[in-house]
Amino acid sequence: MTKCSHLDQIKDVKPEVNICEDCIKLGDTWFHLRICKICGYVGCCDNSKNKHASKHYHSTKHPIIQSIEPGENWLYCYIDDTFIKPF
Ligand SMILES: [Zn+2]
Ligand SMILES: [Zn+2]
Ligand SMILES: [Zn+2]
Repeated sequence: MTKCSHLDQIKDVKPEVNICEDCIKLGDTWFHLRICKICGYVGCCDNSKNKHASKHYHSTKHPIIQSIEPGENWLYCYIDDTFIKPF
C-alpha cells in the first residue's frame, strides 16, 4: 500500500521529449530524466547537476514524478517522500 494521498492529481501525461530542455538551455548535460505526472514537464533527476525535476516541484508544487528511463517506471511523491509502484 502506498502512503501517498496525491494520486488523484495524476494526469495521463506522456513525455513529449527525451531530453532535459532546461539543461539544454544552460548548455549542461544530465544523468536521468523524470516526468511530472501532473503537467508532463520533463526534467533531470537529483543525480544530475541541475536537478530540474526537483526544481520543478519546488516552483509548481506538482508532487509526483515518474522515471522515464528504460526499465524504470516507479513514481515518487515529493510531499510524502515515498516511492509508488506503477499501476
Ligand atoms: Zn503524495
Ligand atoms: Zn536539467
Ligand atoms: Zn508539473
